[in-house]
Amino acid sequence: MRSSADVVIIGGGIIGFSVAFHLARAKFGQIVLVDKGSVIGDGSTSQAAGGIRAQFAQKANIEMSIISENFFENFKEETGHDAFFEQVGYLFLLSDDDEVSSFKESCELQKSLGLPVELLKPDDIAKIVPHVRLDDIKLGTFCEKDGISDPWEFLSGFEKASKQMGVVVELEAEVESIDVESGKISGVRTKRGHIKTPIVINCAGPFAKKIAEMVGAEVKVEPYKRQIVNTAELTFVKPGIPMVVDVKSGLYCHKEGSGLLLGWADKEREPSFDISVEPDYTDAILERALDRIPQLETAEIANQWAGLYESTPDHQAIIGWESKVEGMFHCCGFSGHGIMHAPAAGLVTAEILAGKETTIDISSYAPERFAKGEYVVESNVI
Ligand SMILES: Cc1cc2nc3c(=O)[nH]c(=O)nc-3n(C[C@H](O)[C@H](O)[C@H](O)COP(=O)(O)OP(=O)(O)OC[C@H]3O[C@@H](n4cnc5c(N)ncnc54)[C@H](O)[C@@H]3O)c2cc1C
Repeated sequence: MRSSADVVIIGGGIIGFSVAFHLARAKFGQIVLVDKGSVIGDGSTSQAAGGIRAQFAQKANIEMSIISENFFENFKEETGHDAFFEQVGYLFLLSDDDEVSSFKESCELQKSLGLPVELLKPDDIAKIVPHVRLDDIKLGTFCEKDGISDPWEFLSGFEKASKQMGVVVELEAEVESIDVESGKISGVRTKRGHIKTPIVINCAGPFAKKIAEMVGAEVKVEPYKRQIVNTAELTFVKPGIPMVVDVKSGLYCHKEGSGLLLGWADKEREPSFDISVEPDYTDAILERALDRIPQLETAEIANQWAGLYESTPDHQAIIGWESKVEGMFHCCGFSGHGIMHAPAAGLVTAEILAGKETTIDISSYAPERFAKGEYVVESNVI
């Protein structure tokens, strides 16, 4: 086990490895990444649906996605490794006037930032998703640059590229405490040993709050169960269909193999680390899916799983230095959009650590915004 480092990253999910990759690329010195798992990708990253989109309501979130989509498009050139990313687009279905007016407003902001997003009438929507019931749909928004990915392949690409640039990865190294001397970080104590370091980056996903508590700080990240169902083969599912989000019900679905991946967020849940599959949750997903796609009546379930969103009160990430302890940095709380924001999160973190101005304004992600009561909620969250 490495005994000292210039920076220790806690968490080997897609965020931790994107941060490691961007720091290594910026030649930040000796970087050690620690994870409690025995293999890479034990956390939320492997449980994600793989959706990548830039259709958000808040400027910083749109800009984070634009940077990330560009990076994903060139993933092989950037990292040297292949990863699946199919830009089939994201289609949001809007069924009432409030949804239409708020999405039209977001659409204007997205266009002003250069996103090729379009408003689609039901007749045009029917041409791209003929399997979807549209009789109650007033309008759709569609962006062709959005799409679906394999999160594990992105994670693995970041991991391999990071290691090739000298990042040391320590597995089965659960962080149990963090040393602070005279208000400054001085080391990290893991199950496998102690690492002396002046900087710790908290990329622990749903566990980020526990890491912050180790230095007497608070980050407002809570774990929420989310479930996914994959169907067996469906003959009506054609290649190239977009990710579809039914805004009213919260159902989302995209092509997965020769079937459909179906997901829905139960937003009434209390925080919990439980990731057991619940039959009632499955039924709730299937009920919404059948309502929107009646042909699913004969579908069979191929597999299903549950994972954790790592949500903040405003559904926006927390990126920045911890004000209470020198040397503690947070990059967490991606609230269900951590895959799609990972490249940008790594980039801005490396810029801040190098003392540079960030490529985009991320002041809305400041860790202290909740204590100050100065935050704006991202409304377009699935
Ligand atoms: C069902 C579901 C669907 C989703 N769909 C999408 C989607 O379509 N698109 C999208 O962008 N996002 C999606 N997400 C969200 C996405 O998965 C997360 O935002 C993202 O994976 C967060 O990455 P992370 O690296 O922060 O967390 P993680 O991948 O959870 O990594 C955190 C790591 O920290 C480690 N760790 C924790 N505590 C310690 C400790 N004390 N010591 C050492 N290591 C520790 C864990 O072992 C883990 O490996 C989805 C999530 C779920 C659950």
